[in-house]
Amino acid sequence: CDTQKYRMKSSERWSKATSIFKEFEEQCATPIGRLRQVADAMTAEMHAGLASEGDSKLKMLNSYVDNLPTGDEHGLFYALDLGGTNFRVLRVQLGGRDGRVAKQECTEVSIPPELMTATSSELFDFIAKELERFIATEGEGFFLPPGGQRELGFTFSFPVKQLSISSGTLIRWTKGFSIDDAVDKDVVVELTKSLDRQGIDMRVAALVNDTIGTLAGGKYLNNDVAAAVILGTGTNAAYVERAHAIPKSGEMVINTEWGNFRSSHLPVTEYDQALDQDSLNVGEQIFEKIISGMYLGDIVRRVLCKMAEEAGFFGDIVPPKLKTRFILRTPEMCAMHHDTSPDLAVVGSKLEDIFGISDTSFEIRRVIVELCNIVATRAARLSAAGILGILKKMGKNTVKEGEKQRTVVAVDGGLFEHYTKFRSCLKSTLNELLGDEVAHTVVIEHANDGSGIGAALLAASHSQYPEV
Ligand code: BGC
Ligand code: MG
Repeated sequence: CDTQKYRMKSSERWSKATSIFKEFEEQCATPIGRLRQVADAMTAEMHAGLASEGDSKLKMLNSYVDNLPTGDEHGLFYALDLGGTNFRVLRVQLGGRDGRVAKQECTEVSIPPELMTATSSELFDFIAKELERFIATEGEGFFLPPGGQRELGFTFSFPVKQLSISSGTLIRWTKGFSIDDAVDKDVVVELTKSLDRQGIDMRVAALVNDTIGTLAGGKYLNNDVAAAVILGTGTNAAYVERAHAIPKSGEMVINTEWGNFRSSHLPVTEYDQALDQDSLNVGEQIFEKIISGMYLGDIVRRVLCKMAEEAGFFGDIVPPKLKTRFILRTPEMCAMHHDTSPDLAVVGSKLEDIFGISDTSFEIRRVIVELCNIVATRAARLSAAGILGILKKMGKNTVKEGEKQRTVVAVDGGLFEHYTKFRSCLKSTLNELLGDEVAHTVVIEHANDGSGIGAALLAASHSQYPEV
């Protein structure tokens, strides 16, 4: 009798869990027609953002980059890349047309989490100290002209209203950063104060978003690069806009800030809404919260938590760690999603290590792999729709008579780089959206760490070094 009761209970549980799962799956659906609507809405918001000053969803920020690298850049330049959980410092010796990148060195430092919500000077002082340490190791192969001042390209991956190529005010923070006193301040002034306090003699020659850096770095290596997309902790896209008002080149690179895109066509679930409500930036960056690396793992966790609470998915007690926000990081989700062992041993050990849930059945593990698949697939397909939106804005979603030029989209970010199933789904979806003929003219290229080099190149083209 007892066994009977237990059995009934467990089958009831399973069916309740299945219905939560199925509902989530349906809400996440991204049929091709819906993706086309998302792409069209993206293109429309891009137009709106270019036309308005500030109050549009897409900020469409002018980067003040009207000339991308030519290959003639030369000299010693530093770059600083701040925007995710790590920041990187880099130095390059650019050798001009023949030498290209003659020498390059870099270091990566993780940002103590408490600094992400501290004060502006605490964050920038920390960065300046690390920068100083790195400058001290400058050795052979790097040449500063006599009397020259070191120059820096600063990649700052947040929405910034640029005032010039080398200045701009922070519009707001994203991705887990929240430092109130920095908002509306010129981030170059803030960084420079810290450099001065640290006694570093260095001039910030260019302030760029990571998408702009990636576009510049990509273009340096491949002249067909016309857009850049970041799919990492956060997400964003930049592209080359034809601008009749720009005298020299007739072009301007625009930082779309597509992370803040939002549309009734987006498949948003109750879990996404709850994630947004619990975030540091409620109501903002909705597209980013559905597709970027900072959030994907947490969406999976939220669904699991509901299945545990309402369907006893992990037994009578809800494993307490399931309630901890961001405890399931996207790299761990990725590892579970790619588990190929016959008994899904990776899933089993991740559940144990992360949530303290032991002895899970094969069926439970399979459901979890499927959940990862739903969340990653939705993200990848929506990213592809976003890229189609950009291509449409550039008029590159059709093949014109006699036109042979390829359009290369440089993509960087850990999600794209390391999450294989995400990457392949993005590519196949974009091909499906474009159709065979156009798909042949569009190339998605991984621009590995292009944003650092890109910032250094832009520092070089805006350098005050005396011409040699
Ligand atoms: C920021 C963008 C940035 C993107 C990728 C977003 O949260 O708003 O400026 O380019 O993350 O790093
Ligand atoms: Mg990389």
